[in-house]
Amino acid sequence: MLHPLHLHPVINYEDFGVRHEFLPWQLNDLCPYCGVSLDSTNKTVDHIPSKTLLNRPFPANLAAIPCCLHCNQGFSSDEEYFAVLLECVKHQTFDKRKLTRDSVLKTVTHTPAILETIKNSVVYDSPTHFTIAPDDRRVKAVLLKLVKAHLCFENSHYMINDNELLLSISTLDNMSVTDCSLFAEPFNSSLLPEVGSRALNSVMIIQDENARMIGSCSPWIDYQKETYSFCVATTGDKVKILLHEFLCVYAELIV
Ligand SMILES: [Zn+2]
Repeated sequence: MLHPLHLHPVINYEDFGVRHEFLPWQLNDLCPYCGVSLDSTNKTVDHIPSKTLLNRPFPANLAAIPCCLHCNQGFSSDEEYFAVLLECVKHQTFDKRKLTRDSVLKTVTHTPAILETIKNSVVYDSPTHFTIAPDDRRVKAVLLKLVKAHLCFENSHYMINDNELLLSISTLDNMSVTDCSLFAEPFNSSLLPEVGSRALNSVMIIQDENARMIGSCSPWIDYQKETYSFCVATTGDKVKILLHEFLCVYAELIV
């Protein structure tokens, strides 16, 4: 059993209250993923993260951005695959009866082929422990979308191409103690977030002994405890996500 990563500082998402105060005009008019114009025929709401990755009851005031119907529907099957994959790795099983998340059980009941696909991608390290060689394309599609959505929601950054993001993924048991500690730290900056961005709501000011500001810190946000936590740098466009307390995702905008 892995020890939980001690994220610090961390604040609860719901402590913010409603976080829809600021919305750049582009986000009302353009899909942040593909850039298509949004109107009443194709405009949908995309939750960040997808409800598939969360447990019920969902947090109040779910974060969401407008996006086009095509993009929204296009991510669904990859998100379902990813959610089942996480659950199999977490519980080290493909036995449907041992999976615990309601949404995952619903998915594997309706689409049993997902569980079979994952089962067929297993590499056994020992008779009792296995790793999975997942479908990289599907995993990356889900994670890149999450990163883009966070950068859009927190930093008002939209229309990021996949090749503009450096993505790294690891599980806690494959990381050194030092890497785990580094991952658990917040992003610090010498600057404050852009005025008007949501990031300005959650930023913490770092002061010297004379109460002068010497920097700012973007804390971890527990979106749903033990399920989904994230941290977004207010400058430099970097994102960290901790999923189900074992999958660590780091992404950085490189252009
Ligand atoms: Zn789109």
